[in-house]
Amino acid sequence: MNPALSELGRIYPPERLLVQPGQLVPYESDALTAFRARPLAVVLPETTDEVVQTVAWCARHQVPFVARGSGTSLSGGSLPIEGGLVIGLNRMNRLLRLEPKERLAVVQPGFINLDVSRAAEPYGLYYAPDPSSQPVSTIGGNLAFNSGGAHCLKYGMTSNHVLAAKVVLPDAEVVELGGESLESVGPDWLGLFVGSEGLLGIAVEITLRLLPKPEKYHTVLAAYDSLERAGNAVAAVVASGLLPGAMEIMDHLAIEAAEAAVRAGYPMDARALLIVELEGEAPQVEAEAKHLEAVIAASGAYEVRVARDADERAKIWKGRKAAFSAVGRLSPDYLVQDGVVPRSKLGEALGAIEGLSERYGLRVANVFHAGDGNLHPLILYDGKVEGQLERAEALAGEILRLCVGLGGSITGEHGVGMEKRAYMPTMFSQDDLECMRRIRLSVDPHELANRGKMFPGDEAPAPRHSGPHPLERAGVISRE
Ligand SMILES: Cc1cc2nc3c(=O)[nH]c(=O)nc-3n(C[C@H](O)[C@H](O)[C@H](O)COP(=O)(O)OP(=O)(O)OC[C@H]3O[C@@H](n4cnc5c(N)ncnc54)[C@H](O)[C@@H]3O)c2cc1C
Repeated sequence: MNPALSELGRIYPPERLLVQPGQLVPYESDALTAFRARPLAVVLPETTDEVVQTVAWCARHQVPFVARGSGTSLSGGSLPIEGGLVIGLNRMNRLLRLEPKERLAVVQPGFINLDVSRAAEPYGLYYAPDPSSQPVSTIGGNLAFNSGGAHCLKYGMTSNHVLAAKVVLPDAEVVELGGESLESVGPDWLGLFVGSEGLLGIAVEITLRLLPKPEKYHTVLAAYDSLERAGNAVAAVVASGLLPGAMEIMDHLAIEAAEAAVRAGYPMDARALLIVELEGEAPQVEAEAKHLEAVIAASGAYEVRVARDADERAKIWKGRKAAFSAVGRLSPDYLVQDGVVPRSKLGEALGAIEGLSERYGLRVANVFHAGDGNLHPLILYDGKVEGQLERAEALAGEILRLCVGLGGSITGEHGVGMEKRAYMPTMFSQDDLECMRRIRLSVDPHELANRGKMFPGDEAPAPRHSGPHPLERAGVISRE
């Protein structure tokens, strides 16, 4: 073992300092499995003090590091830095405090998203941000990517639910950002840290806001004869003053795949399905349901179904949740994209994606968080057919440029990571990027924390993702 590594051996017992090639393999990539890099070592801290000592070691020896939660990043965010250190935070997974009266929970970074709601349930509370990876992804990873999910339309992304974080900066200084109060004074340093993709340091304690569980749900499934019309219906629902808990769209390819996978009973002739879910206190939901009915009727839906009980609601969501991975049944390979457009431009964006799909001769399935304008086009291709992968990548790039052109963004919830850094200049000017870089350099002059991510580099690779995540294949999580 080299002398620097043996110093780490004084912090960690051998079972928490991984250096053997066989031990490193599981950490060589994240859910964007097309990219792999071999780290120097992986450490598995159990305390804040161990993280501090490790980061100090990195600063002393100028070793770049990446913080890693469960490695479900779809953008290469937790891909190791070649020859750098992976700081795996899964063992820092304790609930430190839960205060029902204050409606808050304090957790370590490796605490699993869904476990926050499980812990809060006895008090009638829950944690709102619900990425589809919530049974496995960690609060630390959610915070670094400002993750979202189906219910973020009404409640906002992770950033709206994090009150405070204790952070180890890249020089090993420990700082407290935010506070338990809902109001604060001065610049929003916590806001700067959330979504910074592991480039500004490592969160070691996170204070989360809890919400009361909704009393009642009202779930509607509306069928349309065009994708564009379904997209416009989303804008109409929001323009009507309603704020549903979730609004999701599936196109005909996604419907076909979901039906084949789980038989949700969806109308098979629909070109697009819209799922709208109202939630809240019973009298309010009942009043809003009438209003929603009128808006949907005027939006051109040719069939509308309302879930009469919890089973019917579960069936509607089952198809939606299964749709993404089920698309894998329609094609040997697919690329997944994550772009955003303003809600009012959804119809136009979906129409344009259909046009691009025809022009490129590649099928595109759409399953997405329509209420947020967050698109997830899945570009189907066959990697064995020469040139198809390249065409699929070119089409993916056109979709991202389309999103930016319509006033949207190159990523909704999957982060920039390594996958999309080449597209940052599509969205930001050189001055913008320089400004972001200076902020980063002010806390990390040697760019040790997650080096090579987010900022465009020379050799930024094209986005690609082949096949489902192993946990999707095992049916543990689904993708949105
Ligand atoms: C099947 C599937 C479905 C998904 N669905 C969704 C979805 O609906 N919505 C969504 O938003 N995302 C989704 N994702 C993407 C992913 O699950 C989220 O981005 C999640 O937040 C990543 O959490 P993680 O613990 O796996 O983090 P990792 O992948 O380990 O890390 C992600 C990023 O966070 C950084 N990081 C991790 N921990 C810390 C820390 N403590 N401090 C600072 N930085 C840290 C890493 O360096 C990296 O840049 C999905 C992924 C898969 C595979």
